[in-house]
Amino acid sequence: AGGIERHQYDVVVIGAGGAGLRAAIAAQEAGARTAIVCKSLLGKAHTVMAEGGIAAAMGNRWPEDNWEVHFRDTMRGGKMLNNWRMAQLHAQEAPERVMELEDWGALFDRTEDGLISQRDFGGHKYARLAHVGDRTGLEMIRTLQQRAFQLGIDVFMECTVTELLKDADGNGRIAGAFGYWRETGRFVVFEAPSVVLATGGIGKSFKVTSNSWEYTGDGHALALRAGASLINMEFVQFHPTGMVWPPSVKGLLVTESVRGDGGVLKNAEGKRFMFDYIPEYFKAETADTVEEADRWYDDKKNNRRPPELLPRDEVARAINSEIKAGRGSPHGGIYLDIASRRTPEFIRKRLPSMYHQFKELADVDITAEPMEIGPTCHYVMGGVEVDPDTELSAVPGLYAVGECSGGMHGSNRLGGNSLSDLLVFGRRAGAAAASYSDGLGGSRPAIAEQDVKAAEQSALAPFEVEGGENPYTIQQDLQQSMNDLVGIIREGAELERSLAEIEAFKERASRMKVEGHRQYNPGWHLSIDLRNMLIVSEAIAKAALAREESRGGHTRNDFPGPDPVWGSKNLVVTLNADGTGVELTEKPLPEMPDELKKYFE
Ligand code: FAD
Repeated sequence: AGGIERHQYDVVVIGAGGAGLRAAIAAQEAGARTAIVCKSLLGKAHTVMAEGGIAAAMGNRWPEDNWEVHFRDTMRGGKMLNNWRMAQLHAQEAPERVMELEDWGALFDRTEDGLISQRDFGGHKYARLAHVGDRTGLEMIRTLQQRAFQLGIDVFMECTVTELLKDADGNGRIAGAFGYWRETGRFVVFEAPSVVLATGGIGKSFKVTSNSWEYTGDGHALALRAGASLINMEFVQFHPTGMVWPPSVKGLLVTESVRGDGGVLKNAEGKRFMFDYIPEYFKAETADTVEEADRWYDDKKNNRRPPELLPRDEVARAINSEIKAGRGSPHGGIYLDIASRRTPEFIRKRLPSMYHQFKELADVDITAEPMEIGPTCHYVMGGVEVDPDTELSAVPGLYAVGECSGGMHGSNRLGGNSLSDLLVFGRRAGAAAASYSDGLGGSRPAIAEQDVKAAEQSALAPFEVEGGENPYTIQQDLQQSMNDLVGIIREGAELERSLAEIEAFKERASRMKVEGHRQYNPGWHLSIDLRNMLIVSEAIAKAALAREESRGGHTRNDFPGPDPVWGSKNLVVTLNADGTGVELTEKPLPEMPDELKKYFE
């Protein structure tokens, strides 16, 4: 391993989304020599796609709002499975983190009084989302990147981490990370006593997702292989309306405003089917005739809401049932029709970006014909199990923040609570990682050369295979299988089948082959990502099979309601003894102190 490029830092942050940037800023400010490593170009992280805003109880619109109400909303939204301490810190600190972004130059939309404006969102009692038009994520990323540059943080972009490295003396501490440059395929070693995982989500394990190619669960898998644990993995959020056609844009988000502005859902028989899916719980507030539903758009006071505007999980489940019953569209979705209900002028004015999105990407004119849409995998609540105050995992020196960490959102995340999560816990993790490195003094961990060699061999293995299968077919089969068997509605027998299929994919992946050289080779990159996708998929399927109830982002046909016994425990995922798969243990939720319990009485 003598020839490998090496760098030494106090803190290495893997990921340049909101979580990674905020962590790196905190670490560097605390005096640690800090680097950010990211798989794509800086500025391309997922955070940039966030539209709605950052949830923070600033009370600018509603003086009644405060951290206690935000805390309560978050816990109820997560069906009480959230780590209470994380939900508390998040609600308490989010307003300061937003103000700080403003100090660093973020230009938020304003109220009439010149305060940061806040907008309404599902599950939040008061208007609470600080925003910048519908491009909040872009402004957040821009501001954090500028701050990171000012502080002189080093950035390694288009550099993918494939393994975490541990201390050579065998005491289990983190010692650094191993990766490759995407362009040249050359390897690189980062030596650092603190590593912060901020790699985002897992959406690419599913065929249909709003997530980009980067979301292969790398941080989740790296953590598992390094000896850390994951929680909440059975909870995956599906958004009801993503594009299903053409394949190149499958899963891309279609905003809820289409339905808010009059769009309705129809099956292949032309039937407006949502009236068949109004759950008992929402009957009182939902229109049960087409006439009443249609009157609501002009007279919201005297009519009940159309069933197309039920909460996201209800709509997504209904769409899924229609497709499963064989009443889907040619490309496996259903129809979202606004063309027959509103004039072209109205649609172009109210939904300009949706109009362009479909025109340019699908060659569909949404003013003239319906859109084909279907549920899309959007967000993973599950992630690395961390200490709520410091974001430290079970491995000394290894921290996790943002979408790749677990606990904060319990079984379901509220809109806007991700961007605030990145800021609050990014700052905490960066500060803790810097302080840990600083406290080590002369007793820093060292990387074992045989571990570097092993990481190198493991990355190159697919070049050595004779006559194996290419990773793309395995990836496609995995995505299809996860979509069909571990999707929005689950059932014991299907989950068992999915686990058997995942075993078969793992077996095929052990013999996968890539062609060509190490210079920019997407097939090779995928072969490395695929190992992560497989282990993360197994974690999701196993936890989903074990949790015999329905709660938040986890719906079991065979266990339709929530179960108080399951409501008091987490499923913890760890790597099994021989490293070939994952295993589960049950763990009681941390006990909420009495002074917080009072909010739920
Ligand atoms: P990311 O921003 O995804 O960053 C991950 C980083 O990790 C990237 O830089 C990537 O290159 C890097 N990385 C990954 N693997 C590796 C590796 N192996 N080696 C090196 N680098 C690696 N949330 C809200 O709160 N409000 C919203 O309005 C909102 N809107 C959304 C709209 C869309 C379309 C989507 C998809 C999500 C939305 N969300 C929203 C969710 C939110 O955007 C994400 O949960 C959040 O941005 C995740 O941030 P992150 O920092 O954890 O990860």
